Amino acid sequence: MDAVGSEQNPLRVAIIGSGPAGFYTVSNFGRHKEIHVEIDMFDRLPTPFGLVRAGVAPDHQKDKSVVRAYAKSAAKPNFRFYGNVEYGRDISLDDLKQHYHQVIFTTGAPVDRDLGIPGQDLAGSHSATEFVAWYNGHPDFADKEFDLSQENVAIIGVGNVAMDVARILCKTYDELAETDMADYALKALKDSKVKNVYLLVRRGPAQAAFTAPEIKEMGELVDADVTISIEEAALDEDSRAYMEANPDKNVDKNVAYITEYSQREQTGKSRLLTIRFLVSPTELLGGEKVESLKLTKNEAYRSEDGSIRARATVIEEEIPVGLVFRSVGYRGAPLPEVPFHESWGTIENDKGRIQTKEGERLSGMYTAGWIKRGPTGVIGTNKTCARETVNCMVEDLESGAHFNPANPAPEAMEALLRKRQPDFVTYAGWEKIDAEELARGEATGRPRVKLTNIQTMVDIAQN
Ligand code: NAP
Repeated sequence: MDAVGSEQNPLRVAIIGSGPAGFYTVSNFGRHKEIHVEIDMFDRLPTPFGLVRAGVAPDHQKDKSVVRAYAKSAAKPNFRFYGNVEYGRDISLDDLKQHYHQVIFTTGAPVDRDLGIPGQDLAGSHSATEFVAWYNGHPDFADKEFDLSQENVAIIGVGNVAMDVARILCKTYDELAETDMADYALKALKDSKVKNVYLLVRRGPAQAAFTAPEIKEMGELVDADVTISIEEAALDEDSRAYMEANPDKNVDKNVAYITEYSQREQTGKSRLLTIRFLVSPTELLGGEKVESLKLTKNEAYRSEDGSIRARATVIEEEIPVGLVFRSVGYRGAPLPEVPFHESWGTIENDKGRIQTKEGERLSGMYTAGWIKRGPTGVIGTNKTCARETVNCMVEDLESGAHFNPANPAPEAMEALLRKRQPDFVTYAGWEKIDAEELARGEATGRPRVKLTNIQTMVDIAQN
């Protein structure tokens, strides 16, 4: 028998999840020219690209241009895409062991972290992840409803997801119409009555999780003023000392924008974005639905590990809000037969090699991206993350630690899929969906009009 990875006996790899980490796994294998590899990528949606399609803000079209590189990977003859195929529903770990030498899980972090305060489940309180998926046309969220008849909205947390949500709520219809947001969301946002958007930040300006381009954009909104109180924009002594000891250009820029906004006059635009620092929501109040938010004022302090944290003071206040978005980070979801670290929300792994809770290696099983390391970094961070895992996969191939599939031929997997999920969508099928969306966009002067119904997508793909 020829060695696995030779021309006669190619390495067969299954990738579960077609977001950035999945596609960077493919491109990283491309760096190992000595290995003959055949890659099959699966996704539970008929469409590829994960959060680039369903997470990246629709008004940040440039960030989506990475898909051009992914399309180049997909065009290689050793690559196949099987969309609308769900691991755990249509295929099992045992199926993968029968058809591949290695499997890598790149399923991202699809759910939200729990804020854990009373009232968070009242009607009118949503996770930002739901809202983002809704306006981006994710089929699972297309039926969600958000009460945009409310004038006062709070967003809890201030990472870049919170910034995206705030921007989408503050932009005009004309600005939103230039994006590829879902048609139903564009229509709903056209009738939005939102006037006041509060971004609630538990720490101070120097610890804000957003990046400088995002806070800069908040000062450039066509019909929304941004305001920050001078008191809350001011740096405390500990933050000042920390910034001096740990120079960081992003933090310097963030603080400069925040200072500038605190000195701005409001110009009477239709909407007002108020950024509040050093406040923590402690309870959502209301009867049938959320009516107000209880806040505690925080103070910054230097913790034992040197970082600047926030602790509650005795000062409390209540702000009237009818809609709340909790944006305190994403979280991975467990997968059948894959060891999961509950408190971290990631797959148990060492450098991408999956292992049991006790640290025992599970040969042939790997992970990359947010489900490996948690929801941090930008799209490109997944490139180095996937490289680390692919290097392990190559190393393990040399040592023979992989599955020994009984049916490694690509046709065998496809035959199984025809039985289990005949509605699978190939990359050529996705290209038909893509062409349809682009054509619909062209007809209405938008970058694309997304299809949000799975059956419609399957029909177009298989036609
Ligand atoms: P994130 O960056 O981790 O931000 C989470 C935010 O929630 C932080 O402000 C955090 O405050 C706050 N938070 C956490 N627990 C809280 C609590 N109990 N009470 C109040 N606030 C709380 O997460 P994310 O915004 O979901 O973004 C995920 C990743 O995607 C990030 O790496 C982000 O940069 C990236 N992303 C990038 C872009 C872009 O490049 N344009 C766009 C979207 C997302 P503390 O800082 O005090 O913990």
